[in-house]
Amino acid sequence: MADIRLAISTLANYQQLATAAAPHLVAAYQPFGINLHLEPGTTLPEDPVTSYGWQQLIASLSQRSGMVSPPAPAHVIFATVPPGLDRSINGQLLNDTRGLCALFLGASSFQTPSPYNRVDLVAQVLIHEVGHLLNLTHGDAYGYGHSDSMMPTTDRQQQTPLAAWQLAAADAAHRGEPALLIPSQIYTYPFGAQCRACLRAGATNPAWWPWRSKFRDEFGGGVGDWSDFSLDVSIDPASLPTMITLGDGISFTLRIRNGGRQPVPMPLHIGPDFGTMTVTTTAVGKAPVRFRADNYRCSSAKTSILPGQTLLRSFSLVPSPQEGLFTLTGAHTLSIELFSSDSGGRVRVGQAQANLDVVQPPSAVTVANGIAARLVATVRGHALPTKGEFGKLNAIAEGSTMAQHARYKLAMLHGGDERDRLLLQCMAPGVQTAVRHRAARQLALDGLQSGRKVSKVMSSMRRYWRDERDDELLETLERMELGWKTLLA
Ligand SMILES: [Zn+2]
Repeated sequence: MADIRLAISTLANYQQLATAAAPHLVAAYQPFGINLHLEPGTTLPEDPVTSYGWQQLIASLSQRSGMVSPPAPAHVIFATVPPGLDRSINGQLLNDTRGLCALFLGASSFQTPSPYNRVDLVAQVLIHEVGHLLNLTHGDAYGYGHSDSMMPTTDRQQQTPLAAWQLAAADAAHRGEPALLIPSQIYTYPFGAQCRACLRAGATNPAWWPWRSKFRDEFGGGVGDWSDFSLDVSIDPASLPTMITLGDGISFTLRIRNGGRQPVPMPLHIGPDFGTMTVTTTAVGKAPVRFRADNYRCSSAKTSILPGQTLLRSFSLVPSPQEGLFTLTGAHTLSIELFSSDSGGRVRVGQAQANLDVVQPPSAVTVANGIAARLVATVRGHALPTKGEFGKLNAIAEGSTMAQHARYKLAMLHGGDERDRLLLQCMAPGVQTAVRHRAARQLALDGLQSGRKVSKVMSSMRRYWRDERDDELLETLERMELGWKTLLA
């Protein structure tokens, strides 16, 4: 039996909702030997809204996280505004050692008609997010013939909870597992065979508990290949950094073209932090290294690529210092795989590779990378570099993925003119696309929060961003605009 403390921190207006959903959460895990002991966390005075607000909250809730005896609680946070004002995201794992997660009650999926009328849905997403705290992934949910608590919301909702429970109970009986009891009041979805096996392992093995280890890689369970889907996926060679050095991250633009004759469904959100893309680097003769994101966002929004259409998606990935993507010089292979899912299964829809050469960095880059790595690591609980070091970073931030990424983090630590100046530097031509876009989104959000008219902010953005690679940014800004109007109006 595992006894796990779980503190629930919420905005005051969600307190009753959290209390109503709590018994369903406890009941979902108890049959597998996982006893959740719920306790009140803090009442949040306001929604964290921005990534900086979230960092502050995460830092304050993480303070006691190292305590194993007596164990520190894991935390669930009930907030309103989804990351980037993107209402397709309804929950998120907030840190890589699985101690904190959040529900975003302002997400579209809860406005049916409102979260207060949907205790069932709130309980479902609560169970799902706590599943991430216990090291379950979306990939665990597919391949067992029924909807599963760990599927993202729209995939899960393809089946009624009752139908899913009946199939899950029959499956458990067929496998000779202890009987899966269908609840008398069905508010939530069952766990499938793979989730059940993981949870039973977690009942006796502390490595599965919150705070104890990094969020797990996908097992790759339930993955099929849709080879008749004619997606042509490639890494744009021009988007790769001109020099990749030891200890650096990686940035690139992915080109996803539909060369077939029918539309191909795709997740709206593509990336390691959505469980829809994997990124690995492999040095010659060595084992592949998988990039692992700091957080895991739960969105099941879908889009489709029409015949002849090309989607461009840009990434800038910086690993935590202990998990370098490039720890050796010489030839490496960069491999990308894309995944999609629906209620019927999880499939690989495409893959791409590129060859890279990793070199020993010139000394200026070594200094920049060192400072940058520490700055980037501050969100993972490390102390800030000193002011003098920031100055150096600012002077030599050209070139490496790591240093460009760090300049954005530096901007986030400032306010006012200095913040604007740094963000504009991040948007300069020559900076990797993903960082330019991130800075633009932040400038737009800053503009909205300072009271500028949403139409003014967006039209100035549309004038500035005109390259085909920027379509991705413009789509994100449209979602942000919609989210701003509905959430904060
Ligand atoms: Zn999820």
